[in-house]
Amino acid sequence: MTGFDTLQVHAGTEPDPATGARQVPIYQTTSYVFKDADHAARLFNLEEVGYIYSRLTNPTVGALANRIVALEGGVGGVCTSSGHAAQIMALYPLMSPGKNIVASTRLYGGTYTQFTQVFKRFGWSCTFVDFDDPAAIEAAIDDDTRAIFCESLANPVGHPIDLDAVGKVADKAGLPLVVDNTSATPYLCRPIEHGATLVVHSTTKYLTGNGTVTGGAIVDSGKFDWSASGKFPSLSEPEPAYHGVNFHGALGEMAFTFHSIAVGLRDLGMTMNPQAAHYTLMGIETLSLRMRKHVENAQAVAEWLEKHDKVAKVNYAGLASSPVHDRGKRIFPRGTGGLFTVELKGGYEDCVKLVGNLKLFSHVANLGDTRSLVIHSASTTHRQLTDEQREAAGASNNVVRLSIGIEDADDIIADLDQALAAL
Ligand SMILES: *Cc1c(COP(=O)(O)O)cnc(C)c1O
Repeated sequence: MTGFDTLQVHAGTEPDPATGARQVPIYQTTSYVFKDADHAARLFNLEEVGYIYSRLTNPTVGALANRIVALEGGVGGVCTSSGHAAQIMALYPLMSPGKNIVASTRLYGGTYTQFTQVFKRFGWSCTFVDFDDPAAIEAAIDDDTRAIFCESLANPVGHPIDLDAVGKVADKAGLPLVVDNTSATPYLCRPIEHGATLVVHSTTKYLTGNGTVTGGAIVDSGKFDWSASGKFPSLSEPEPAYHGVNFHGALGEMAFTFHSIAVGLRDLGMTMNPQAAHYTLMGIETLSLRMRKHVENAQAVAEWLEKHDKVAKVNYAGLASSPVHDRGKRIFPRGTGGLFTVELKGGYEDCVKLVGNLKLFSHVANLGDTRSLVIHSASTTHRQLTDEQREAAGASNNVVRLSIGIEDADDIIADLDQALAAL
């Protein structure tokens, strides 16, 4: 079982051992009866794997985590309550006060806020650099750096990051590379194959695919040696938060996953609930079918928009005119996703009007839905940023972001046609 279309339907699950149920049951329970006192002790000691309490693990949530791990080609992982929870949870075992990460300027707006404002409260910091310049990443790394972070197909433009180049920098520095693969999904890109240590997701987007539930996931490649540099004591030395267990020593390549469960989920509590896991499991079954249609539609719409006289520019790596077209093909051979931005000649005002004129498109702060979605990033998701920061993030004032759905391309184009004509 190795093909993506097979894995998305079968990986991580089997008929329910208790009932034979073919679909993964929603285990709506908070706790699990121990066989005896000895069994309970072994579970708490990590000597035996089993269920204790649903803040830590739950069979429905675990099935989803295992399926995402299989699709990404990792060794282990956990699900979280949201994409933002996955980011904090991924960094939590690596960081401590005074430490920093080096991150790409091209990020989801909320991630930018998390890495500046929330980090400050933890005593962490983040240096933002242009990830199209590997030398700049290298220059930003110092003795206190604990991770390199970027999105694969970066918000809001769908800008393909050269993960091979970034992976080499991380490898040379002996640092884990954390890649947010939300906009690409493992169907379009498997960051671990390009050098990522950890992959994070907002499952809220394409993985669920229908705009129903919020969730996140972390996948560990199992390839990083947490003990090599002495920089990751939570994983390579006795962990005071879990009665002195040395996770790397005791669990080898599963160290990060077990730490995320036994310490991260247990103590931070950013747990996915089994209902959410159910919706996302349903969504993932058709992931590749949807992604093919998202890519096909995005290509058709981008090509049409590029020729429109009210359009200044279309930023989509799938277009032959894109400066990152070749890179996009190399890292994302199945296509560069369903997300891109359009620059209008009429600037900020026309952008706001276009959003108002569209009828088929929904004006929402979401992406990766089956429906086509639109947002003016500068006045919404990226409004906290300065003009300069917005520019660097690809969310300039004259730019509208489209998340192209899986409707008929002709209907999507007809809606844009009437909305642009009315400007
Ligand atoms: C939506 C999104 C997030 C945040 O995920 P939530 O599930 O909304 O918390 C993080 N990164 C990217 C790329 C996203 O699109």
